[in-house]
Amino acid sequence: MARDITDKKRAEEIIRFQHNHDLLTGLPNRNLLNEQVMILLNHARRSEEKLAILYIDIDRFKLVNDSYGQIVGDKLLQFVADKLKSCVREADVLARFGGDEFILLLPDIHSAQDASTVARKISAATSQPFVYGKSEIHISLSIGASLYPDHGNNWQLLLKKADTALCNSRATANNECCVYHDNLTNYNSNKIYIENLVRAAIKEQRLIAFYQPQVDLETGEIHAIEALARIESPDQGLILPGTFIEIAEESSLICDLGEAFLDRVCEDLIKWRAAGHNVPVSLNISAVQLAMASFSESFLNKVYSCGLSPEQFELEITENVIIKNLEMTLDNIIKLTKLGVNIAVDDFGKGYSSLSYLDQLPLKTLKLDMSFIHKVQSAETENSIIPAMLNVSNGLKLNFVVEGVENRVQHDYLLEQGACIAQGFYYSKPVSATHILDFLRTHQPVAAPVGEQLD
Ligand code: C2E
Ligand code: MG
Ligand code: MG
Repeated sequence: MARDITDKKRAEEIIRFQHNHDLLTGLPNRNLLNEQVMILLNHARRSEEKLAILYIDIDRFKLVNDSYGQIVGDKLLQFVADKLKSCVREADVLARFGGDEFILLLPDIHSAQDASTVARKISAATSQPFVYGKSEIHISLSIGASLYPDHGNNWQLLLKKADTALCNSRATANNECCVYHDNLTNYNSNKIYIENLVRAAIKEQRLIAFYQPQVDLETGEIHAIEALARIESPDQGLILPGTFIEIAEESSLICDLGEAFLDRVCEDLIKWRAAGHNVPVSLNISAVQLAMASFSESFLNKVYSCGLSPEQFELEITENVIIKNLEMTLDNIIKLTKLGVNIAVDDFGKGYSSLSYLDQLPLKTLKLDMSFIHKVQSAETENSIIPAMLNVSNGLKLNFVVEGVENRVQHDYLLEQGACIAQGFYYSKPVSATHILDFLRTHQPVAAPVGEQLD
């Protein structure tokens, strides 16, 4: 009796492969990784060599997945996996660890330097954009590394330390691999703490808006008012956005935060209107929010439901967000501007030198990054950037707002240049809703305000 068992064997092989591999990328999965780690750690112990663990994560993967859809997200994961494969030696183990995370094990290395060299090779390999249809998606990776035996002698510990290093790499966003050392910030727990803080602030209505006026230098009138988010913490006082915006952006919390913040601003705006002040308000919008297909619709719904009108709003978007995610943001920008919302480029001049996007977008305002005016220290300061940027802005018929004006010298300098709108501590620090209402009530427009800070 003989029986052909080829099919059975093949089926068994497939089952074994599926058990040990990630089917999307073909890379080993956690099961196989765990086995391989033990083998490589034993080998490193015997040979007294080092083993490096590289923990690799795709920055803002969620943003791509949410805005382009899962099919594109999957293609991007395959693209990254292929690039990673092209950077490894035969003896290395590359695995998909889950979601957008990969682990690379580098046996027989001599120093942390070797791990950094491989990480640089990986960053170079992924510097080309991922092209899908007509879209070009620029990606970057965060990479954290730990070393056996320097940082631990078991897998759990080494993985934990590589994770801490990864969080630090992400926080510095400098595209460099971070190798673990004892002085690294323990971002993991800190991040969770801040996420919880934001979540609670939204729920308990402790997310509030502070307001800072933008002054028209020609007339002395208030041109607009920027709303800036703060969290009121019972034990820590006011928490500034620098502490929580980026962390909220990494999770979908930023969308809830944005919605809750818009609620607060609309409530305040209704009060100002009732008091007879029709000044427009500008809001900072994160890339993650703008990449949501539903953003423009939910924003406009909120505005209309409060009896307000879109022309009373300006949305500030930072320059790098516009360029990096142009495809994703464009649709929302067009829908919003069609209905009268103004769009401002925030922190202009800080990130990118390319100006090509300026005449491709329906922009209304350029907000010059405050670093430029801070260089003006005395009446004699020579500064060619501000007049040049003012010219660009005038040529494109955009409003030009200079941020960060702190003193009389800087104010006078701008007046001399013919710059139109200024914002900064010289006119008023960001203040609470009640204070800004007082400010609006008592503000006397004078073309050239003299004297000390108003707040
Ligand atoms: P931004 O939009 O560029 O806001 C201006 C920042 O500069 C504010 O910091 C403001 O307090 C500060 N500032 C204003 N005048 C002066 C000055 O004369 N000198 C100096 N040194 N600083 C000045 P803040 O409120 O801490 O906000 C920081 C950043 O956080 C904002 O920068 C914005 O990018 C972001 N942000 C604030 N609120 C929100 C929000 O609701 N959503 C989002 N996505 N981002 C927000
Ligand atoms: Mg802003
Ligand atoms: Mg700014």
